[in-house]
Amino acid sequence: MKTNMRFRTFSPILVVVILISVLIGFILSRNHCDYNIILISIDTLRADHLGCYGYKKNTSPNIDEFAEQSVLFVNAYSTTAWTFPSHFSIFTSRNPNRTDLLMFPAVKSFDDSYVTLAEILKSAGYRTAAFTGGGWVAAELGFAQGFDEYVTHGRRFEHNQEALFTWIADHASENKFFLFLHGYNTHRPYNAPAHLKTRFIKAWKIPEECRGITFASKQPGREECLKAKNGINYMRSQYDAEIYYVDILMKDLFDELKKHDLFDNSIIIITSDHGEELFDHGRYDHIRTLYEELIRIPLIVRVPNGTGSTIGARVSNLDLLPTLIDILDIPYEKADLHGRSIPTLVSGQEPDSDIHTLTGMTGEPALSAEGIPFIMLSVIREPLKLITKIRQDQSKTYELYNLEEDPSEKENLIETWGDTTSVEQAATVDSLKQLVQDWAQRMDMRLDLYEVEETEKELSPETLKQLKSLGYLN
Ligand SMILES: [Zn+2]
Repeated sequence: MKTNMRFRTFSPILVVVILISVLIGFILSRNHCDYNIILISIDTLRADHLGCYGYKKNTSPNIDEFAEQSVLFVNAYSTTAWTFPSHFSIFTSRNPNRTDLLMFPAVKSFDDSYVTLAEILKSAGYRTAAFTGGGWVAAELGFAQGFDEYVTHGRRFEHNQEALFTWIADHASENKFFLFLHGYNTHRPYNAPAHLKTRFIKAWKIPEECRGITFASKQPGREECLKAKNGINYMRSQYDAEIYYVDILMKDLFDELKKHDLFDNSIIIITSDHGEELFDHGRYDHIRTLYEELIRIPLIVRVPNGTGSTIGARVSNLDLLPTLIDILDIPYEKADLHGRSIPTLVSGQEPDSDIHTLTGMTGEPALSAEGIPFIMLSVIREPLKLITKIRQDQSKTYELYNLEEDPSEKENLIETWGDTTSVEQAATVDSLKQLVQDWAQRMDMRLDLYEVEETEKELSPETLKQLKSLGYLN
């Protein structure tokens, strides 16, 4: 999180200059309609475990090199902390502001009343194809809208690699395409190739209890491993090994694109849908909280002939769709979008925005510590972040952090201030609570409705298998 601090000191003027020279300069300089778009979502990849985001371990040499030639957004956020609603936001530039889009684990889908990025690009003449890990981004959940092909041969990037490279070879000479690439490599269970599993184990031994543990859901021995000395370090090492492996797969992809003269003829975006808790706050997994390790995502955008630059402004994955259609100059009605075009945002044509995120769970006792449904919302208005948890009975708890002084969110100021809260502090908290309320109202978000409105979708055996392999729907 140190990088967060470092980049927050960037002067707004410098940020604008950088953007003008890269993104806006890019927009003005050429006809971009002929560029391919390649959007890569590495599921469950927290930003701060990549070298280019300041991680000390060498997990991502190839992505780091890619980032040196790209626009790197230091403070990029997901709308939420789990796969389905986050990808929904990426593809529609809409917040998952209905319980049937947000609440885990009820299986949900979105219909064609939402226009997706793939549909917009297809209507602008792009050939569209997706190679994904399925599961929560399965075609049948709504994500196939606008795609000519939607391919899933397995949950990890390598499972789709052969089909993808064949597709690239077949379509390299065509005018323009949109590729969406997704894989669950950094999502539990951790199964990096054997020779990489010990790469991030230094100065300590693998605990006996952790031998063979991949942290798959309900894997026998998993909890014993985590309780052992260095058990948590082992878990983190396996997550990092997966990053290292997916980083190699990214290089394979870049090499393939270069082989077909596509690397410099494409806008390439690397991002993720959410991060992962690795005992930063006493637990692992995602979905259940909105701490920075879950909502801060990598966002690295390489434009053809672009030079490397770093943008400190806070942006959201909602902003991807409007930014792309802006850069590509595709006429499209933006009134219904929740995101904003990044160049207009950062160049000061639009005011600074707060970052809002949300998550929610139905009351499955096995999944929710309290066993009752809740919705959680957060707002960041620098330097403060307020997290509000609203349970089905409408009882609420609040956490308040100063991200500048406490980027790891260890000190809940509401507890620290306690009985001695000053009038000024109380007013600050009230104004943040009001921001959340106003935002929820603007988004038409029902905070008193916890039932999932849609009946459970009948899923294909294939999608059920994919979800089970990720530890869901056991
Ligand atoms: Zn995910």
